[in-house]
Amino acid sequence: SNRFEGKVILITGAGSGLGQASAIQVAKEGAKLSLVDLNNQALEETKKLILEVAAEAEVLLLTADVSNEEEVKTYVSKTIEKYSKIDGFFNNAGIEGKQNLTEDYGIDEFRKVVGVNLNGVFFGMKYVLEVMKKQGSGKIVNTASVGGIRGVGNQSGYAASKHGVVGLTRNSGIEYGQFGISINAIAPGAIMTPMVEGSLKQIDPENWEEVGKQFVQPNPMKRFGKPEEVGYLVAFLLSNEANFINSAVIPIDGGQSYK
Ligand code: NAD
Repeated sequence: SNRFEGKVILITGAGSGLGQASAIQVAKEGAKLSLVDLNNQALEETKKLILEVAAEAEVLLLTADVSNEEEVKTYVSKTIEKYSKIDGFFNNAGIEGKQNLTEDYGIDEFRKVVGVNLNGVFFGMKYVLEVMKKQGSGKIVNTASVGGIRGVGNQSGYAASKHGVVGLTRNSGIEYGQFGISINAIAPGAIMTPMVEGSLKQIDPENWEEVGKQFVQPNPMKRFGKPEEVGYLVAFLLSNEANFINSAVIPIDGGQSYK
C-alpha cells in the first residue's frame, strides 16, 4: 500500500529493534523519514536496510540523545528545516537498565532510565506537538511496555518510566484531540530485539537462547514477538486508518498482559 505517500515520519531509537522495523515498514509504504538515534552507525545501517526495500526513500539521519532537551529541540527543528512538517512521530527510544530489587536499584541508574524513557518521551512530545498544533494534524505513538501496565519486578526505573509514558499518553491525548492530533502508546511484551538479546546475555552469556525459550513459556503464544510485527502496528497507528484512535494504550504481547 501507499498509505504514507507524501507523509513525513519522525522516529527515535531508529537505529535498532522496534524503531528500525517501524522505519522500514513506513518507508515501504512511501514515507519520507527523519531518523534519530544516539548511535550514528546504527542509523546508517537502518538507512541501508530502508534503501534495499524503498530505493527512492528520502531519509534524514540525526544523531541525538533524547534525554537532552536541547538535542530534542534540534532534531525537531532539523526535521522541519528539511521537510517543513511532521505527520507522524514514533517516540520510541528507550533503555532497559540493570535489573535489581528496589532497595539495591541505584539512584543514578534510576535517573538514567527515567531520563531516557520518560523525560525523552516528554521532550519529544512537547516539541513535536508545537509543530503539529500549528499544522492542525498529526499522530504520535509513544513506546510504553507491558512493564508500564503491570508489575514485572526488578525494574524500578523501567516500570516508573513506562507507567509514566502511559500517563503522558492518556493526558496529552485528551488535550490534543481537539486539534486533530492523536496520541497513543504501544505496550510491547517480549519482542526479540538487540535490547532483549542483551538482557538474556546478562543472565547467561553462553546459553542465552535456551534462557529465552524458558522466558517465553508463560506467554500464551510461547514465543517472542518479532520487530516487524510491532512495525505493522506502529504503521497502522500512524496512518489515517487510525484517525479515531486516541489516548489508547495498545498491548502487543501475545496476550501476556491479560494473563
Ligand atoms: P533496542 O535497544 O534494540 O533499540 C533502541 C534504540 O534506541 C537503539 O538504537 C539505541 O541506540 C537507541 N537509544 C537508546 N538510548 C537513546 C537515547 N538516549 N537517545 C537516542 N537514542 C537512544 O531496543 P528495542 O527493543 O527496539 O526498544 C525500543 C523501545 O521499545 C524502548 O523504549 C523499549 O523500552 C521498548 N520495549 C521493548 C520491548 C522488547 O521486548 N524489545 C518490550 C517493551 C518495550
